Amino acid sequence: MPRGMVPRQPARTGRQDKVRVARTLLSAKSGQRQSASRQDDRVNTNAHPSRGKASAVALKGHSNASGKPAGSSAKIKGYNPVAPDRVAEILKRLDQMYPDVTCALTHASAWELVVATILSAQSTDVNVNRVTPELFRKYPTVAAFAALTPEQLEPDVRSTGFFRNKSKSVVGAAKKIVAEFGGEVPKDMEKLLTLPGVARKTANVVLGTWFKIADGVVVDTHVHRITRRLELTTQNDPQKIEQDLMRIVPREKWILFSHQIIWHGRKLCIARKPKCADCALENICHAADKTWSTVEMHKNAKA
Ligand code: SF4
Repeated sequence: MPRGMVPRQPARTGRQDKVRVARTLLSAKSGQRQSASRQDDRVNTNAHPSRGKASAVALKGHSNASGKPAGSSAKIKGYNPVAPDRVAEILKRLDQMYPDVTCALTHASAWELVVATILSAQSTDVNVNRVTPELFRKYPTVAAFAALTPEQLEPDVRSTGFFRNKSKSVVGAAKKIVAEFGGEVPKDMEKLLTLPGVARKTANVVLGTWFKIADGVVVDTHVHRITRRLELTTQNDPQKIEQDLMRIVPREKWILFSHQIIWHGRKLCIARKPKCADCALENICHAADKTWSTVEMHKNAKA
C-alpha cells in the first residue's frame, strides 16, 4: 500500500455513529476539505480486496458531491438500489463469500426437513439440530408421526419453543401426508401449503433444498432484515419481500441466494451490531444501522 494511504479503522466502540454527520460538516467546509474527503473515500473503498470496482457501483448515480447527506430524502436522485448492475454485484460478492452453502438444518429426507423447518420457527438451527436426531430415531417415518397425538410429541420438541403449536403442526402435517399424499411429501407449492404449519417459507425451504425446485425465495428473519438493509426491498410483509426479490434476482439464483443471505445473517450481518468492517458488501451497503461505513448511510435502509 502506498505511503500515507491508511484505511480508516472502525471505532473502538464498534459503531461509526458520526459518519453521516462528519460528511455533512465536511461538505460545508472549503473545497480543499471536500477534495480531501473524496480522496479519503477512494482510500477506504479500495482498502478491501473486492472493492475496487465496487466503489463505482456503489457511487454510480449516487453523488455526494452536492454536500447533502444521501439519506436525507426517501428517494435519492439518480440512485437505484435495485439497478441490475448493483444487484449483480451483490450476487457476485455473495458467491465469493458463500460459494457453497446450503440449509443448516440436519435432515435425511423431505419429511425430516419439513419437521425441522417447522421446529425452527422462533428458534435457532443449532437448537433444532440438538433435538431432531433423537426425534427421528424415535419416530423414523411419516407414519410414525401420524400415529401420534400432538400431546405425545410435545415433550420431544419442548426445547425448541412454542412446542404445543409445533407439535400440532407436525402431527397434523404427518396425518395429511399419509391420508392425502400417499405418505410422500408433495413436491408442489400449492399442495405443500395445505399442510398444517407450512407457509411459503417452509415450502420454499423444502422445495429448494430437497427437491431443487426454485419456486420462490425463502424469506426468514435473516432475509427480511438483510434485504431491507441492502435496499433490495422496502416491504415488511414476507410475501411482498419475496415478490420483490423474485423480480430482481434471477430465478436460477433463488435457492442459493436464500441460503447465502441466511448464512450472512448468521455470520456477519447480525441483527444487533452487524460486523460491517468485515463485510465484503460494505461499500455497496448504505444501511442506516451499519457499525462501520465508508459510504453514506440511508436512513430508510434499515431492518
Ligand atoms: S455492511 Fe453491515 S449492514 Fe451492510 S450487509 Fe454488510 S454486515 Fe450487513
